Amino acid sequence: MSFEQLGLSTDLLRAISDQGYKKPTPIQEQAIPVILNGSDVMGGAQTGTGKTASFTLPMLRRLEVYANSSMSPAKHPVRALILVPTRELAVQVYESVRTYAKYLPLRATVVFGGVNIDAQIEAVRFGIEILVATPGRLLDHLQQKTLSLSKVEILILDEADRMLDMGFLPDIKQIVEMLPERRQNLMFSATFSGEIKKLANKILNKPVLIEVAKQNSVNEMITHVVHPVESCRKQELLIFLIKQKELQQVLVFTRTKQGADRLAQYLNRHDIASAALHGDRNQLQRSQALGSFKNGLTRVLVATDVAARGLDIDELSYVINFELPNTPEDYIHRIGRTGRAGAKGVAISLACQEESKLLAGIEKLLKTKIKIEEISEFGATRQQLQTVDLLIEEKKIKRTNSSSNRIKQPSFAKHNKSATIHFKSEAITKNTHRTEKSKDPLFTQPYISKFSHVQAAQIESEKQIERNMLHRRSYGYSNKPLPALFIPLVMNKQKN
Ligand code: AMP
Repeated sequence: MSFEQLGLSTDLLRAISDQGYKKPTPIQEQAIPVILNGSDVMGGAQTGTGKTASFTLPMLRRLEVYANSSMSPAKHPVRALILVPTRELAVQVYESVRTYAKYLPLRATVVFGGVNIDAQIEAVRFGIEILVATPGRLLDHLQQKTLSLSKVEILILDEADRMLDMGFLPDIKQIVEMLPERRQNLMFSATFSGEIKKLANKILNKPVLIEVAKQNSVNEMITHVVHPVESCRKQELLIFLIKQKELQQVLVFTRTKQGADRLAQYLNRHDIASAALHGDRNQLQRSQALGSFKNGLTRVLVATDVAARGLDIDELSYVINFELPNTPEDYIHRIGRTGRAGAKGVAISLACQEESKLLAGIEKLLKTKIKIEEISEFGATRQQLQTVDLLIEEKKIKRTNSSSNRIKQPSFAKHNKSATIHFKSEAITKNTHRTEKSKDPLFTQPYISKFSHVQAAQIESEKQIERNMLHRRSYGYSNKPLPALFIPLVMNKQKN
């Protein structure tokens, strides 16, 4: 199918052709005609598949009837509202709108927090048909009555699952209440949980469900790999990977803002030009960090999940999860920064044993096992890590289970069943199962292709041997030297 067959106007087709797009992507092929029909849409598409154009192009087509060159603001009320979760995504979507609307006399602007509101007030004062906004700043404008939403005909929630989660939902509810009842609602996201779908249905009116890929699935162009590593050696491993693979541009995700700052500083100290992007940085710093990364001035962008959503960075081949995300859905969003628009990508995760449950959660969501590659220089401690994890698990069970006889059994049963056991079994059977070398030219390190399940007894004996050696880690003192006087106290605790 061609763009011409989708019912778009010549002005839009010209703009598309300027972009060099040859034919619509699957989500565009399916969504554009439905949106042009006026139906509500719930669109599930992997990120990087042309999602933005799939709602922007038909939106512009529908608004073309309002295009006018009048100077009166009254002739330019907000007709379409696009809500997005992050400032960076707001700017990106706004740029897409401008790109596709370049031959149309329709006005658009973007409002988001973290910057002075005055310039935005000035921008909306003369009237705009299309508004891209983050919810908090939009509410500021609505409270100051610098904007009205009474003429909105199309509401678009991009990254809809994030927009409807607990953090944003109150703002979204307030905004939706200010919209006319009769309107078209479009929601797009790469992931939709059951709960979010229920919430979405309260806003949507008989939506057409469009899914171009399995729900919560990831782009097949992306190679996934997990490198097991002790948490205190992650920084070292990261530098090793950057140098070994000669990575010139890599997006690295951390779980915390402080962690992002620390890691960026560490990399800079090791002559790897890096910048941090997270919610505690002011807008100028955020824009500079992203800008210098996109321009190739910085080699590594260390970011929290604020950068996980929707960001489109040209030719980004590598995403590294320095820490696994707390929710499996965020993994999909994070790694979606690579492998975009049909390009190949590699998603690397550095996972310590404490993260094995998070890994299991991700594998469950993706319904697939992620290849685990041991890098020999960093793999020596996995056996220890496995034992620590069991100790932590056992401690948790002890807390919730008063019967000491029942402590061990559920622990092993659980581990044997869950995906985490692969991690552990790999560690334990390290020498016996190392049979295959990676065929992937990107990875020259040996790895273990399959992880046999270990018998509970085997785990138990390993655990006994390692228990005393590793007491510090199990009590969270992994990186600090332990004062000698404190050791007996920890040992006593362990016995209890
Ligand atoms: P998105 O999923 O909207 O973030 O888009 C990902 C990338 O695909 C962007 O860089 C778009 O410019 C690009 N793109 C969108 N539609 C097409 C198309 N039909 N053909 C080629 N590239 C496209």
